[in-house]
Amino acid sequence: MTKPALFLDRDGVINVDYGYVHKKENFEFIDGIFELVRYANRLGFLVIIVTNQAGIARGYYTEEIFSKLMLWVKSEFKKNEAEIDAVYYCPHHPSHGHDSYLVKCTCRKPGPGMFLTARDDHKINMKRSIMLGDSTSDIFAAESSGVGHSIYLGNDNVSCAINARDLIEALAIFSVLASQKNDQIKQYEFSKN
Ligand SMILES: [Mg+2]
Ligand SMILES: [Zn+2]
Repeated sequence: MTKPALFLDRDGVINVDYGYVHKKENFEFIDGIFELVRYANRLGFLVIIVTNQAGIARGYYTEEIFSKLMLWVKSEFKKNEAEIDAVYYCPHHPSHGHDSYLVKCTCRKPGPGMFLTARDDHKINMKRSIMLGDSTSDIFAAESSGVGHSIYLGNDNVSCAINARDLIEALAIFSVLASQKNDQIKQYEFSKN
């Protein structure tokens, strides 16, 4: 049985995007994120962070610093009775990377790499999965890797996403999308019998 995932961008979705955040002191959780993740956990969605971290390529911080910060982030979620199942990040940049980080990779969003790796690692049902991002590259990456629905915390119109003003609205949209899918699956199972 494959599980759906709620894919989350990090900066601008989980924490306020102050630009290249790599310290606890600058990591400000956005209102509603713990509730959203807790709710997704309850519905049986895996919760997976997919984040571009070009600050590593640019030499602003190391992968070790990033990983330590994310361990702390995961523990903060736990304290709030919410669980992050996995974190995927792209440390590259195609033109501003130092040394081995100067790569035209496929993991940097809008590339699909992180989503496809997560899919294979966790046996994710991509059609039933949902992306939440604040940048069009989040939405395009999800779209091109087969994620069924996207919620966009932004003002532009992106044809393949539903706009949400904040995480409260995102949670409401997520609950509708998630339950719609469940009903369709129930219907499918019913028609099989
Ligand atoms: Mg973002
Ligand atoms: Zn990359």
